[in-house]
Amino acid sequence: MTQSHIRNFSIIAHVDHGKSTLADRMLEMTQTVADRKMQAQLLDSMDLERERGVTIKASAVRMMYKAKDGETYMINLIDTPGHVDFTYEVSRALQACEGALLVVDASQGIEAQTLTNVYLALEQDLEVLPVVNKIDLPAAQPDEVAQELENLIGTPAEEILRISAKSGIGVADVLELVVKEVPPPTGNEDAPARALVFDSHYDVYKGVVAYVRVVDGEFKPRDQFQLMATHAKFDPVEIGVFNPVMVPVESLKAGEVGYIATGLKTMQECRVGDTITLANKGAEKPLPGYKQVKPMVFAGIYPTDNDDYPELRDALEKLQLNDASLVYEPETSQALNFGFRVGFLGLFHMEIVQERLEREYDLDILATAPSVKYEVIKKDGTSIFIDSPAQMPDENVIAEVREPWMKIQIYTPQNYIGGIMDLVIKKRGEVVTTEYLDANRVILHYLMPLSEVIVDFYDRLKSISQGYASLDYQLDDYRADDLVKLDVLVNNEPIDALAMIVHRDHAYHKGQKLVSKLKELIPRQMFAVPVQAAVGKRVISRANISAMRKDVLAKCYGGDITRKKKLLEKQKKGKKRMKMVGAVEVPQEAFMALLSLD
Ligand code: GDP
Ligand code: MG
Repeated sequence: MTQSHIRNFSIIAHVDHGKSTLADRMLEMTQTVADRKMQAQLLDSMDLERERGVTIKASAVRMMYKAKDGETYMINLIDTPGHVDFTYEVSRALQACEGALLVVDASQGIEAQTLTNVYLALEQDLEVLPVVNKIDLPAAQPDEVAQELENLIGTPAEEILRISAKSGIGVADVLELVVKEVPPPTGNEDAPARALVFDSHYDVYKGVVAYVRVVDGEFKPRDQFQLMATHAKFDPVEIGVFNPVMVPVESLKAGEVGYIATGLKTMQECRVGDTITLANKGAEKPLPGYKQVKPMVFAGIYPTDNDDYPELRDALEKLQLNDASLVYEPETSQALNFGFRVGFLGLFHMEIVQERLEREYDLDILATAPSVKYEVIKKDGTSIFIDSPAQMPDENVIAEVREPWMKIQIYTPQNYIGGIMDLVIKKRGEVVTTEYLDANRVILHYLMPLSEVIVDFYDRLKSISQGYASLDYQLDDYRADDLVKLDVLVNNEPIDALAMIVHRDHAYHKGQKLVSKLKELIPRQMFAVPVQAAVGKRVISRANISAMRKDVLAKCYGGDITRKKKLLEKQKKGKKRMKMVGAVEVPQEAFMALLSLD
């Protein structure tokens, strides 16, 4: 197809504003999918995505659309992940487009990720086309929201489409809008082939399948190709398009979107953001903007049952095939034995990985509280990065500890500002500015340590604002602060997996809270168990778990057998989620107790 008849666009929206639903309607209207095959939220292909109603991986679909002008257009819809942890993937997906539909829920208005996505789209020079969705809802305020959008990007409110993706009202106009307003691609058809990798997945038979936007030239299945950042060469297994299932084609030309099945065995060789070109006489310059994404949040993951270690290792290996941003290495803990230190892009990414390990690989895992990456400058002038409190060097060799700080944006109705401000200050945050979006809604700009963001900040923000506030953040800088390691000793033994790095001013308070929580969580043993929190050699808090007095079965007066059995079973079940630490049984929740200390 000639470039003048191609349109490449993305839908951007805050989570739940209706991106996937609108995509579904468009697929139906262009008959890309027969109605009977239509399944709600087709683009969200992973089960987990569909269940949680979030889009984790970007996907791309080719639709053929006969417009009112009588011409047929090839419209490529590139779906972007909706969550803050995947900002880099969003920006690569947007780079594959010339335009973006900005979908805003008529009952919610502009929210944190609406704006982040708008800025990302504007950075890529995209034509941003606002659409107000969910006008069928009784709480819809389409005029107000259209006005907010006019204020934001300048499109006159009366020209903004008002639709219901659910019922289909106005969706035909959206397709016309895309044809009219999204600029056609303008690549050089005669230049050496260049394509941007904006997403990928791993296929057992085809290797890494790169989702590509061809910028210049032409890709044919019989040529040999090369990735420009990793230099990996490959003979493609197949070239094709998403229709929406994978369909092989004879060529992908400038302006088109599709896939190249590379046959490569690891995602590390074919990363999002890289450029594919010909192995012989390829392009000289890669497409701009490639960077390697780095994990920000780290946690230890251990099998609940030590025997499951090989299964856990295999599962992580398989997950990584599909997720280049997931990193891990073996880790040994005195308390938890053999496991892995796993790095994630953010908290949400961590939750997803844990859930997939449990669900798709049927593993019982224990995850330690998340940590960030600290830089420790030693007195001898050398410095190291650590991503686990257990790696913290001895206090007397440390000159300075630095931690990552984030730029944070919170969108909220203004009546919650006071509560949010208190929370941010408590979490060592700093106020930067307050920006008024309209009479009622504000954007609060803060700076905050990431280590405080990852510990229940999001949940507390939601509860303070009754669910209305939304959050986005980006790395700002590393800063030094008075950070110390808080050790926890159970039965006089330090438990590495319970240690954490905290601000010295918070150490006493957190130590006390943690000790009293552990006292509640650790069941009585046959002997008395002291629990202590310490900074360096100084114990700052202690408690005693007194010894168990009676046998559980003693309660049954030796009578009822079925009741005895039930009790035994109950104990067995409870035990499964326990971990032997030295001579003491510690329940799984204890390792997460660090997450909810005020
Ligand atoms: P996404 O997170 O942006 O992909 O949002 P989804 O498409 O998953 O939609 C989130 C929820 O809003 C789902 O329950 C949809 O059924 C619902 N939804 C989407 N569009 C509309 C609409 O036009 N009207 C109504 N009432 N609900 C909608
Ligand atoms: Mg979605």
